[in-house]
Amino acid sequence: MLSHQSEKMSLMLTAKNHSIPLSDGNRIPIIGLGTYGDPRTTPKGTARECVKLAIDVGYRQFDGALVYFNEHEVGQAIREKITDGTVRREDIFYCGKLWSTFHPPELVRPALERTLKTLQLDYVDLYIIELPMAFKPGDKFYPKDKNGKYIYHETDLCATWEALEACKDAGLTKSLGVSNFNQRQLELILNKSGLKHRPVSNQVECHPYFTQPKLLEFCRQNDIVVVGYSPLGTSRDASWVNLKCPPLLEDEVLVSIGKKYNKSPAQVALRFNIQRGVVVIPKSFNPQRITKNFQIFDFSLTDDEMKLMEGLNKNIRFVELLMWSDHPEYPFHDDY
Ligand code: NAP
Repeated sequence: MLSHQSEKMSLMLTAKNHSIPLSDGNRIPIIGLGTYGDPRTTPKGTARECVKLAIDVGYRQFDGALVYFNEHEVGQAIREKITDGTVRREDIFYCGKLWSTFHPPELVRPALERTLKTLQLDYVDLYIIELPMAFKPGDKFYPKDKNGKYIYHETDLCATWEALEACKDAGLTKSLGVSNFNQRQLELILNKSGLKHRPVSNQVECHPYFTQPKLLEFCRQNDIVVVGYSPLGTSRDASWVNLKCPPLLEDEVLVSIGKKYNKSPAQVALRFNIQRGVVVIPKSFNPQRITKNFQIFDFSLTDDEMKLMEGLNKNIRFVELLMWSDHPEYPFHDDY
């Protein structure tokens, strides 16, 4: 079900003016550049050049993380575009993520400070818990035992959240959110006694093959903006992507709707999400595709086209995270 409010709002968005409200009074641009590229195959400097180009093109949101290993480049690009006068800091929205080895409350602020130091910025706009699953704290981001099994850590999501609230109060982040949380995990935070700051967003996989109707409805009812990751159907990298799901951008419906508007399947997929109030963070490190992916404000899909695209839902994830499916907080067991 589309909410008429978010539908109406999305029809008013423009390339210059495309942010939507968050429940804490801040705003988030409805499109951002995803910045995860495989560090083994992405040449150094790529993220920096791409973020600078994206700012010139009109992107104002950047989705990053400590474990993308290029946060220094993203920060450098943002600072360079501030220095050359293209944007001011307050025009840019940067989302950083708390990695799973930093869930114990005393590690939360140092992790965010590490990100700020890497970015060389004074604050991030949004800081989110990347996964509801905690791993053993230490030097290794992906700790494993001698048998190659991941080492988990007991999670108290509410305690982690309280430490995040203190970071917002200290001015290190403007807003707080989560990622890969299911409804139960969101409710855990929302129903926490003494909750000071509500999560403003939940970043989850969302695209025409995985439309997330139930979670979207729950989030709408609770004033939580859904940020859709892998909005183009991912990079189809076999090392972490479920390739049983066919390539989204080859879908005939997307292709034929695209022909009608002289748009690519990627632009149609992105428009579908923003038109239902879902923020999109397509990743591209290719100049043409970065530019094209932003050109989604000069056409709109009809109600029938939106329904047709909702009907493409296969309820299959590209990002299953099955390697952690035995974690007590693995979020994707339930059909939520
Ligand atoms: P995506 O944005 O759906 O797809 C990226 C892939 O599509 C790349 O291979 C890109 O290649 C290609 N591409 C980009 N534009 C295209 C176009 N117009 N036509 C054809 N192919 C195109 O997938 P994603 O990287 O998985 O997700 C986006 C962002 O979401 C990530 O970068 C990250 O910031 C975030 N994310 C978060 C989580 C989480 O757990 N919170 C998980 C996954 C992703 P080129 O670079 O060569 O253009």
